[in-house]
Amino acid sequence: MHTSSHTIEAAERLGAGITEISDYREASRPGWTRDVFSEAYRESRQWTVHRMKDAGLEVHTDGAGNIVGRLPGTNPNAPALVTGSHTDTVDGGGRFDGIVGVLGALDAVRQLREGGTSLTRDLLVVDFFGEESNPYGLSCLGSRAAAGELTAQDLDRTDYRGVTLGESYSRFGLDPAATLNSHWARRTGLHAFLELHIEQGPTLEQRGLPLGIVTGIAGIQRLLAVFTGSPDHAGTRPMTDRADAMVAAAEAVLAVRREGCGAPTHGVATTTRLESESRSPNVVPSLVRMTSEVRSVDADWLSGVKGRLAQEILGQASHHGVDVDFTWSTDNEVVHTHPGVHDTAARVADTLGVPWMPVPSGATHDAVHMATLAPMGMIFIPSKAGKSHCPEEWTDFADVATGVTALTQTLIALDQTTLTGHS
Ligand SMILES: [Zn+2]
Repeated sequence: MHTSSHTIEAAERLGAGITEISDYREASRPGWTRDVFSEAYRESRQWTVHRMKDAGLEVHTDGAGNIVGRLPGTNPNAPALVTGSHTDTVDGGGRFDGIVGVLGALDAVRQLREGGTSLTRDLLVVDFFGEESNPYGLSCLGSRAAAGELTAQDLDRTDYRGVTLGESYSRFGLDPAATLNSHWARRTGLHAFLELHIEQGPTLEQRGLPLGIVTGIAGIQRLLAVFTGSPDHAGTRPMTDRADAMVAAAEAVLAVRREGCGAPTHGVATTTRLESESRSPNVVPSLVRMTSEVRSVDADWLSGVKGRLAQEILGQASHHGVDVDFTWSTDNEVVHTHPGVHDTAARVADTLGVPWMPVPSGATHDAVHMATLAPMGMIFIPSKAGKSHCPEEWTDFADVATGVTALTQTLIALDQTTLTGHS
């Protein structure tokens, strides 16, 4: 792709927007912190509304707090195209995660208008409410509600102060009951959803590629393993005659790691927590809890992991005379992008002359929930050194501009593309 003055202008414009919104942050926190329900987030959302209006969109906020800007199409009966991302950040987070997908979508609207391009369909630009994880343990609040997946029980979840999610909505000025009634139209009502996002990993940068087209979003399986041994005197019990739950758990940590290293395509396995009940330094540990997670876009591998890990961990533990109890929970299933959306984005990249590769997403996104409403796709742009959810998070503005060009052209192409079947 040629770097025209047009692209340089777009990069400067996008960079200015990213810098402006990053000023809305919690001063007492590191990085660019804009938690859901915070004052900084409330103020930044007003800025976003103004930005949307400046772009010529009709703006409203739905019952779930999603800010939706509408660019009317020429056929009011055609199912709408949807694009967008989120503008909240994690504690100590960066300036790009989510933000490029919202500001990029607004720049796409600008490019459509300036290019005199009218879409047949309405284009909806969405700033989804509260995408990042929060003290209620429920990410993607806005897109979850849009997908009709937010429940009354979810509103009763409490944070560490005992404040419920429902109360937090109220304090923020949103009616909790309305969040439950914010289910968007079903698949037939929307044509497609396309999200531009930073990769948050190192692959694109390592390959020297400006664009990734997402194949799927990883499923997540979480494991709680409880190791039960025998609480003996650490000074008198011989090494050959112990049931040490900590040693069995330590071997399990390595077994989890080996699973991730042996994954066929994209797969990762991480132990995040080991807790021993033993408080005394002179007692052999008898009860240890291990929390691990396994992620992959390969559903077969992901389901096979459970059996393989259970067998290996049990085998090792029994060597040490330790019992293990396993509890698995599914955080989310593998979500594949729609082949029609993926292929349209790929054709556009080829036409633009932008080198790209297919990439899996190891992180969760609003797109997971939007996939229940419409054929879904995602476009990734490189993250410097693969860093994300930290102040060092960075993507060159020129790369953001390239991503926005791909987003704009893919939206134009999708407007005219018939998409069939489920993802
Ligand atoms: Zn994000």
